[in-house]
Amino acid sequence: VFVVFEGGEGAGKSTQVNRLAETLQAQGRDVVVTREPGATPVGSRIRGLVLDKGDAPSPRAEALLYAADRAHHVATVVRPALARGAVVISDRYVDSSLAYQGAGRTLPVQEISWLSAWATGGLKPDLVVLLDVDPGVGLNRVDSRGAGTDRLESESRTFHERVRYAFLDLAAADPKRYLVLDAARPVEEIAETVTERLAGLLSA
Ligand code: C5P
Repeated sequence: VFVVFEGGEGAGKSTQVNRLAETLQAQGRDVVVTREPGATPVGSRIRGLVLDKGDAPSPRAEALLYAADRAHHVATVVRPALARGAVVISDRYVDSSLAYQGAGRTLPVQEISWLSAWATGGLKPDLVVLLDVDPGVGLNRVDSRGAGTDRLESESRTFHERVRYAFLDLAAADPKRYLVLDAARPVEEIAETVTERLAGLLSA
């Protein structure tokens, strides 16, 4: 089973990824926690390139770098783990590219979708948990934890608004695959809702 967490800056994805992993591990399941960009040695070099504040790649180059990170991630981490029956939980996946490189950078979303399908060999998540956050609130959260070192945090408010609505549109178009949660809800409540939704998929 392949579960992906998506959302804007400061949505609390990593907290929820870890909560879910702990819950599933306590049930005795084989769980692999991973993320994009940068989960592999190759990926961590790509992450350095795409998030370099001083030397930003042009939009198409950025899209290709994310696709390269993803292709390698899927081939060397996600597919092998799924093949042995593990639950794979990824912090970001294809939707981040549709939202950031597509809607954010205003590249054609359909083209990013083709690129992503090629990079992943068509691998889709079984469940996408979208932690929806108002960009003003999310960026403040990031600032207040002093983690504002990534290039994206200096993008305009309208950039982050486009990203937010792109995520929401993707979820609305495929409600069976998505769980959309208000990231402002208490951590515990969000974690419980995710676990409940996943229970159906794990028993299937
Ligand atoms: O999720 P995380 O904070 O690790 O993401 C690092 C940065 O990369 C964030 O600023 C995020 O917005 C950006 N990103 C992006 N396009 C992607 C994935 C992440 O711009 N496809």
